[in-house]
Amino acid sequence: MMKLTVLGCSGGIGGDAHRTTALLVDDDVLIDAGTGVADLDIDALARIDHVFITHAHIDHIACLPLMVDAVGARRAMPLVVHCTRATEAILRTHLFNDVLWPDFTRVPAQAKPFLRFEPLEEGESCALGERIFTPLPAKHGVPAVGFRVATPRGSLVFGSDTTVCPPFWDAVARIPDLRYLIVETAFPDSQRKLAIQSEHLCPSLLASQLPSPPGAFRLLISHVKPGYVDETLQDLQRVAESHAPAILAKGDIYWI
Ligand SMILES: [Zn+2]
Ligand SMILES: [Zn+2]
Repeated sequence: MMKLTVLGCSGGIGGDAHRTTALLVDDDVLIDAGTGVADLDIDALARIDHVFITHAHIDHIACLPLMVDAVGARRAMPLVVHCTRATEAILRTHLFNDVLWPDFTRVPAQAKPFLRFEPLEEGESCALGERIFTPLPAKHGVPAVGFRVATPRGSLVFGSDTTVCPPFWDAVARIPDLRYLIVETAFPDSQRKLAIQSEHLCPSLLASQLPSPPGAFRLLISHVKPGYVDETLQDLQRVAESHAPAILAKGDIYWI
């Protein structure tokens, strides 16, 4: 069985319930490295061998520089960061640039670094044991991808941050064994303009994209703004009731 633990799935911080995006797959893989990662103890951090990054926005990578610094010297192998070349370029230029943070792809030595990038583009897959990670299209303010995680028992999709993106929904429709679909709804409908401006979704925009009739998968909503959870859920229940959407929460665990 594959275990997915939600370390963080909120659109922001503020109190114990809210951590930004980080999903732990079993105990060795992360999808995004937002502030939820900071709740793991050192041993759990050191067990993580792979991080798949959807996009470079700070709420999805905030703990990446800190975790590599925390565990680098305790690990025998570099932490492998899987992302598109476009996202790698952003992280190298703006984060691991020896100004904001050390370039851990050359620390402590170029031949044996704490961190290694591994390019993973749309159309490619990365197999880690029986778990197969495949980027999916997304449309956001910066280069972004979602991920499908396929196992012999079914698939899970994490849609990343995205606004309306027909290629994403085409890809989802081609996954016959989809069990869980995690999609963002970053704003309530009262902030629809802001959702469009920032290339996110609100309930009515999401509903316009959902398949009809509903698929056999469970629809889970992430990236809801702290303080707007109730309003967003009410909107979702109004416009997407037949899909039985549930709001994802920190600490949730799903098995496939
Ligand atoms: Zn984003
Ligand atoms: Zn985000």
